[in-house]
Amino acid sequence: RPRTLDALLDDAAREFPDRPLVITDEHTVTYAQARDWAWRLADGLTALGVRPGDHVGLLMANHVEFAPLKFAIARAGAVAIPFNFLYRQDELAFVLRQSRCRVLITMARFAGLDQAAMLDAIAPGWERGPTAELPDLERVVLLDGTGRGEVLTVAGLERLGAEQPTDHGPLRRPQDIGDILYTSGTTGSPKGVMVTHDAVQRTGYASALTRAFEDARRILFSLPCYHMFGYVEGLIATMFVGGAIVPRTAFDPADHYAAIARHRATEVLCVPTMTIALLEHPDRRTTDLSSVFALLSGAAPGPAWLWERCAQELGITEITTGYGMTECGGAMTMTLPEDPTERHTTTVGRPKRAGVAGIADAGGDLCAYATVDPLDGTRRPDGEEGELISTGPTHMRGFWDEPGLTAGALRDGWVHSGDLGRVDPDGYLVLTGRTKELYKSGGELVMPKEVEELVATVAGVSQVYAVGVPDERWGEVGCAWVVPEPGVAVDVDAVLALCRERLARFKVPKHVLLVDAADLPTTPTGKVQKFKLVERAAQRLA
Ligand code: ATP
Ligand code: MG
Repeated sequence: RPRTLDALLDDAAREFPDRPLVITDEHTVTYAQARDWAWRLADGLTALGVRPGDHVGLLMANHVEFAPLKFAIARAGAVAIPFNFLYRQDELAFVLRQSRCRVLITMARFAGLDQAAMLDAIAPGWERGPTAELPDLERVVLLDGTGRGEVLTVAGLERLGAEQPTDHGPLRRPQDIGDILYTSGTTGSPKGVMVTHDAVQRTGYASALTRAFEDARRILFSLPCYHMFGYVEGLIATMFVGGAIVPRTAFDPADHYAAIARHRATEVLCVPTMTIALLEHPDRRTTDLSSVFALLSGAAPGPAWLWERCAQELGITEITTGYGMTECGGAMTMTLPEDPTERHTTTVGRPKRAGVAGIADAGGDLCAYATVDPLDGTRRPDGEEGELISTGPTHMRGFWDEPGLTAGALRDGWVHSGDLGRVDPDGYLVLTGRTKELYKSGGELVMPKEVEELVATVAGVSQVYAVGVPDERWGEVGCAWVVPEPGVAVDVDAVLALCRERLARFKVPKHVLLVDAADLPTTPTGKVQKFKLVERAAQRLA
């Protein structure tokens, strides 16, 4: 039975009332408590005037309030727009305006950023109602009202709801838009992806099936809940088995180790840069890691050695890697826990197994994919590399208020990913890069991945990112950004010598620049932003 997100929580609270759903250092919230909390908040939103279909923005770190607020928005029939809480003023102004939200629920400050002060600068007078700058924004609810006594707080919203309880079932249909989720902004401005209530549940359920969840998993992550990875692979997936999330508000290896031991986490969600940081941290040796046996890696390519080291040094035996995008309703493909190591290191898996409890056949595939010529869009024969396109019931309905971009990305029901790859005969997908990150040197197309894989074999190299930088003579030339292993010196000449020996001339990077892992430009989800590495290289080399 397809259902709305509030119906998911309602059903889960009936099935697992006393099990914990959210565990933080200060709080443990059971399923039944989460539902009651969410329902009070929903009634508060309704009392504020929120109507079905309204846009409600949520600017919230991985606090204990996130999940109750998220389900409250669904219960009130509104569309949730979870924002990146690390946005600076201009980025925040852009999404607040673009998303046209009527109500914004936000922290007053977080992570050295003062969200309330940013609002002051973006839209003076926001406390009193719509402003010239944000004409659609009628109400702002603050998590912490300190110093802003007159503004409604989340606790105040809850009290308001408790005074005026309502009794109703879901106000929306499963195929209505439940979320507008902004893409990571790895390749440029973020886009607001419209996904249905049903889509995220299908992806989450497929994930629970594919990752072979049995009972009550405890999933620890610092990946933000406004992003598909934390939201669907963490929160939604665990709800199908009465499991819990252990959300952390920031990524810090020492904190992760302490929290794994303290809350007996069974698994961790990480992007590769995080897993590398965990492996390189000394607390690995002193922490009781006996509870944790699984790791879901995704969102960005990881080095091949990662899997083996996770197994050996963290004792994690179920390591899966997933691939997806916001436009496809989260992760589409995954390797299976039982796959041989080589599958995990060379592919991103095959389509997840489909089926939402009781809706459809479990066992079918969640999506179908193919490759096309990135320039003219014609189909490539099976097994040949090209731009990856995919289709399936979890795919987006389009980008909010961006018909031009939607027409480009969603053609005849197929999402054009901007990712390059090929499909192996057994259906496993091999990713080879992003169309936007290819570059041409002297008119010849260079695949950054080929350069990266070679440079990664040089002694002392931990990570490498190849980008094309403008060059007067060749149009573009390669620049390899190399991250040395901690405390190790990398020989730049050895890197160049190896490239000259093994690569065609146009592929040999003209520049090799060293950078510390901590100085890589990344999105808050830990993805390396190559377009910023291009800008930086151009500055360094000017
Ligand atoms: P934007 O579209 O704003 O530039 P983004 O594409 O990074 O940002 P997301 O939707 O969060 O935004 O991420 C999806 C992209 O992440 C995919 O298109 C793909 O390029 C990359 N990706 C996801 N999983 C993997 C993986 N396992 N390995 C390599 N790349 C991955
Ligand atoms: Mg994208």
